[in-house]
Amino acid sequence: MRTSPFDNFTETTSLQLLNVDLLSSEHDNNNIIINSTSFMQCSQCILDVNDDPKITFDEKGICNYCKSFDDQKTRYIKEGVEGEMLLDEKINEIKKAGDGKKYDCLIGLSGGVDSSYLAYVAKQKGLRPLCIHFDNSWNSELAVRNIHNIVHKLGFDLSTYVIDWEEFKDLQLAYLKASVIDIEVITDHAITAAIYQIALKHNLKYILDGQNVVTEAVLPTHWGWMIKDYINIKSIHKNFGQRKLKSYPFFSGKLRRAAHNAAIEVVCFLNWIPYTKKEAKKTLQEELDWVDYGGKHHENTWTRFFQVYILPKKFGVDKRKAHLSNLICSGQMTRDEALSEIATPPYDKALLEQDKKFVIKKLGLSEQEFDKIMSEPVRSHKDFDTEGSLFHYYPILKPLRPLWNFLKSIMHSNKVLLIALLNMTLLMGLSTEVFVIEFN
Ligand SMILES: [Zn+2]
Repeated sequence: MRTSPFDNFTETTSLQLLNVDLLSSEHDNNNIIINSTSFMQCSQCILDVNDDPKITFDEKGICNYCKSFDDQKTRYIKEGVEGEMLLDEKINEIKKAGDGKKYDCLIGLSGGVDSSYLAYVAKQKGLRPLCIHFDNSWNSELAVRNIHNIVHKLGFDLSTYVIDWEEFKDLQLAYLKASVIDIEVITDHAITAAIYQIALKHNLKYILDGQNVVTEAVLPTHWGWMIKDYINIKSIHKNFGQRKLKSYPFFSGKLRRAAHNAAIEVVCFLNWIPYTKKEAKKTLQEELDWVDYGGKHHENTWTRFFQVYILPKKFGVDKRKAHLSNLICSGQMTRDEALSEIATPPYDKALLEQDKKFVIKKLGLSEQEFDKIMSEPVRSHKDFDTEGSLFHYYPILKPLRPLWNFLKSIMHSNKVLLIALLNMTLLMGLSTEVFVIEFN
């Protein structure tokens, strides 16, 4: 799993924000579009041109991701009295809505730092959440132990949503074979759908979410895909899956409408309190017998292997660079500390070999089959149907997709052609919104 998936209906996701910022930065005279052949690294964080060839830098050498962080900080983080007032107001609202009910809200509990600390704060504030744990069959024993310690110590009820492993395995294999980068999106999408289903079932209006700006706002644009895009999941599975997805929870239009009609609200109150990773871990260890996993999202064996093996080896991505850059931006780490941490191996070699054997066996692959998948060329999520894309709304245009992708690659380095095509799109009467999403 990656960042917390419960984005608000009315708010833009971090990923979408980054997309928008990246697009706008290309038209900003203060930014320089760098040549991808020359190495440049941000002077503030540790992201560089290898992490995103379209990264831009201002005259001080600060990248667009650092700027995006500042924008998100201004928009979402509320400090001091303002944060306390917002939090108290929301807590009272949640308690009032929960009057006469067994629970007043839901918390998705992965056992990681953010969600565990969120549960801790909820207890301090006197909330009565139902904790939901999503079991995609890859949880480490330590994660299970941590979760049980947390709910036991806090006196909360726990409900575990267990996904059909054969279906989920088929979907994971489909994503591996499709060679798209964001295999984790199928877990995050299912968690989102499952938690909304449970909120509707229990008639609960509030979902507490550990998503926060200080640790989760920096992510190079092409490292992830939109969590809610069920069209992309269906399309990739249709191309590479073997069996029907009968019980996989899709965050479909029907579920979204039901959640919208029930006015379900996602509350991210870690943005309203002083929140630092180090202090949160210390509290969890001292108060809830929580044990550190040694890496972000390493509570899940698949995620651990995905981040330390598949992402670097196949996609050239070291996810730690985004996590560490985020901590630099939020003042929780110095750039020098991040640089020395990134210079260390991401994981113990012997444990990595053990994980590799375990993952390959659990997915029902031979080592040769897995190595072949790893050697296949990387593809974009946009090679498949996506929600909001031109080809989704106008399937008749699908044969033109390779040409469209080719034009887009040119457009990134040719603003004149971009403007001409924008004009053409407008003349064709297509929505500019559709165009921007697809172009993105
Ligand atoms: Zn930066």
